[in-house]
Amino acid sequence: MTKAAQGRFGPYGGTFVPETLMEPLRELAEAYEAARRDKAFQAELRRLLRDYVGRPTPLSRADRLSEELGCRVLLKREDLCHTGAHKINNALGQALLVKRMGKKRVVAETGAGQHGVASATVCALLGLECVVYMGREDMERQSPNVHRMRLLGAEVRAVDSGSRTLKDAINEAMRDWVTNVRTTHYLLGSVLGAHPYPSMVRDFHGVIGQEARAQVREQTGGLPDVLVACVGGGSNAIGLFGAFLDDPCALVGVEAGGRSSEPGQHAARFLPGASGAGVGVLHGTRTYLLQDDAGNVLPTHSISAGLDYPAVGPEHAQLHDSGRVRYESVRDHEALEAFHLLAATEGILPALESSHALAWVSRAREALRGRTVLVNLSGRGDKDLAVVGGPA
Ligand SMILES: *Cc1c(COP(=O)(O)O)cnc(C)c1O
Repeated sequence: MTKAAQGRFGPYGGTFVPETLMEPLRELAEAYEAARRDKAFQAELRRLLRDYVGRPTPLSRADRLSEELGCRVLLKREDLCHTGAHKINNALGQALLVKRMGKKRVVAETGAGQHGVASATVCALLGLECVVYMGREDMERQSPNVHRMRLLGAEVRAVDSGSRTLKDAINEAMRDWVTNVRTTHYLLGSVLGAHPYPSMVRDFHGVIGQEARAQVREQTGGLPDVLVACVGGGSNAIGLFGAFLDDPCALVGVEAGGRSSEPGQHAARFLPGASGAGVGVLHGTRTYLLQDDAGNVLPTHSISAGLDYPAVGPEHAQLHDSGRVRYESVRDHEALEAFHLLAATEGILPALESSHALAWVSRAREALRGRTVLVNLSGRGDKDLAVVGGPA
């Protein structure tokens, strides 16, 4: 691959970072490439995914939900991974890579705290020092996860700049990485950032789609008509979709439509006609981004912290433009309704992020009548109980 083509997804992706990070990113890309081809590394990753994370996660038939909606719904149960979401697939892969590179210290960013918990977990497992940057605003909203990270031995550093949320935490984590790059790895939590992160994080989540494809064929004798996943940065979605890109399956990514399509009230980067949507550079990558006319990054809102981010992974930008994946958005209240629907019909409390994917299925039920729909249940909803409140 030519240098210019590395980490490009059509016109998106790339490496837009300060000079001081060019060399560390090149080293990381090289180390990852070598690990990817190393049978011993892959065997160790497979062992830990099986014995520690609990993979393969089941593909569950959702019979009562299916009856309610009039289509056949199958749930890929990432909520049953250790720590309660898909994020540990990537955190574990990167932490093994850190060991292989001989580094001892990890920095990570976190919004809701899910990626921070996954990072703190794998650092405890592998004996790595872990520093998690988190906006002060988020620390207050997600205090149980702050407690969890500290119990796991991580240092949680409050970020007081900007809006004191995820975007600002990423800035701080990158600053730390630049300063301590010899000893430190930046464990990025989604398919975002400069090359090699979008490809590397996608690959570590590829196991979701590989398992799901084998499971659905075994259980139904065929492939699903439609696959649905929520899209924050886009890691659980690309992890599922990756194995089905060449199949005749419809792929639907669901973004956070928030309260309304007004600027600042949502995080739907692909929403047609949404003011502020456009292409720009954020955190090292060129992609779709919510910004104002002067190019300033807009604030975002979602009821689910994991979808509350102004940019989207660059590969999704390409999949959007090519039309291979269709991007939809659902509002906060629709996600809440879907949360209650799954709880009442299947006895599963989904993460509010995953509830967005379920909400789209519920909204599209007429068009989906009789079809087989595979939904990625990216995480469990225990973390969201304070937001959800009492029974509907
Ligand atoms: C973080 C998170 C997401 C959003 O991140 P992606 O990179 O888009 O997958 C979705 N679901 C859950 C449960 C999360 O914790």
